[in-house]
Amino acid sequence: MDWLPVVKARRAESAGSHVEIRGWVRTRRDSKGGFSFLEINDGSCLGNLQVVVPASLSNYTTDVLRLSVGASAIVRGELKASPGKGQSTELAATEVVVLGLADPATYPLQKKGASLEFLRTIAHLRPRTNTFGAVSRVRNQVCASIHAFFQERGFLYVNTPIITASDCEGAGQMFRVTTLDPDKPPRLPNGTIDHSQDFFGKQTHLTVSGQLEGETLACALGRIYTFGPTFRAENSNTTRHLSEFWMVEPEVAFFQLEDNMDLAEAFLRRLATDALNNCQEDIDFFVERVDPHVRTTLTALAEQPFARISYTEAVAKLEASGEAFEHPVKWGIDLQSEHERWLTEKHVGRPAIVHDYPKEIKAFYMRLSDDGRTVRAMDVLAPRVGEIIGGSQREERLPVLEERMRASGLEPEAYSWYLDLRRYGTVPHAGFGLGLERAVQMITGMTNIRDVIPFPRAPRLADF
Ligand code: ATP
Ligand code: MN
Repeated sequence: MDWLPVVKARRAESAGSHVEIRGWVRTRRDSKGGFSFLEINDGSCLGNLQVVVPASLSNYTTDVLRLSVGASAIVRGELKASPGKGQSTELAATEVVVLGLADPATYPLQKKGASLEFLRTIAHLRPRTNTFGAVSRVRNQVCASIHAFFQERGFLYVNTPIITASDCEGAGQMFRVTTLDPDKPPRLPNGTIDHSQDFFGKQTHLTVSGQLEGETLACALGRIYTFGPTFRAENSNTTRHLSEFWMVEPEVAFFQLEDNMDLAEAFLRRLATDALNNCQEDIDFFVERVDPHVRTTLTALAEQPFARISYTEAVAKLEASGEAFEHPVKWGIDLQSEHERWLTEKHVGRPAIVHDYPKEIKAFYMRLSDDGRTVRAMDVLAPRVGEIIGGSQREERLPVLEERMRASGLEPEAYSWYLDLRRYGTVPHAGFGLGLERAVQMITGMTNIRDVIPFPRAPRLADF
């Protein structure tokens, strides 16, 4: 690869070098003085490289004057210090090779400022916009930070199955995986579908969480994390839910809930710090175009300790708030988005960890406390985004776990492999799940989760 990425070509120290640039035209302007100015973007950074093309080039009229928004080209020439504002260098072209034109009559990204709704309909072209370029670079940074954070702390990256026969109870509605003929599935004498004839010989689904399998690895390897696609077939048409998203799930042997909260906090702080340090130009863009408070929010996230508040305390504060919530608050309810937002945005003004929830609203595997009413669960709530992390200390006591399963209407026999972890060498352990897209929303300020993943899947939406 001996052409230069625009991100490097734009640096002042590159002035004086002879380089080749490859990218797509963002604008072309022709001046009377016998020059054309091209703005070239190659995705390596938000900024474009200004290219000055003299009319004396042999293919100036035949090629250069046909370049329009979206066309691709290779440009060779010398980088010079630029007198222009907002750029340190510009490229004085000695050669322009056109690779592909883009007909201005039909290319959909002519004008700046197309709406996000419109861009969703052209998800194959929206990576070429400033917004999606910036989102993609931040998303990449978040993924790199996730691995760096856990690797530096000795966590093993493990992979749990995407097709699963286990149901991580309550996590969400599942997508069925089957090769049976939908028109004529084999049936048992009682009329129900005979899954023994299905591909796997049983009913299988796309995973809603790798947690249960992750626990098996943590209970042998100590500290692990998974990071993979996760599927939920809920009919949630919201700005925070996707049917296919990416989840990071650390699981740690010998951890209790407090350790888990410390880990979650250090983790989110790291994601914010890395984005602030490594994506400055993109964050500037989000501040200017998306949410003026993004940098302040991120700085606060990176620097201030999170608030920690028990569910019981949170409910008391909500009840005393005097707010007219759509969903009335009383001990035992599942906190709704409006409650979470009040807690983080109005009550504490920063991220908050709510912990120790009523057992009735949480999953069977969360550790029962001595009060018999609450479990050692935690949710991390971020301003604007709401729940970004959900986690818990897991129930490590076999009889208690079996009892909790029965109370939730589950057959302990169906989870015998999961119970084996408690039967043989059981240990306290804890973990959590972070939705990658919610983290990217928090960092970019993008309001709709469908705009932080390249090809969103949601109810009635599976284009491309
Ligand atoms: P919510 O209450 O917001 O629907 P949840 O409690 O069902 O989320 P968990 O099962 O706790 O979610 O999943 C852990 C994390 O995964 C959540 O904190 C969130 O960051 C992310 N997440 C869950 N569901 C979705 C979804 N449908 N789309 C995107 N991210 C999600
Ligand atoms: Mn949750």
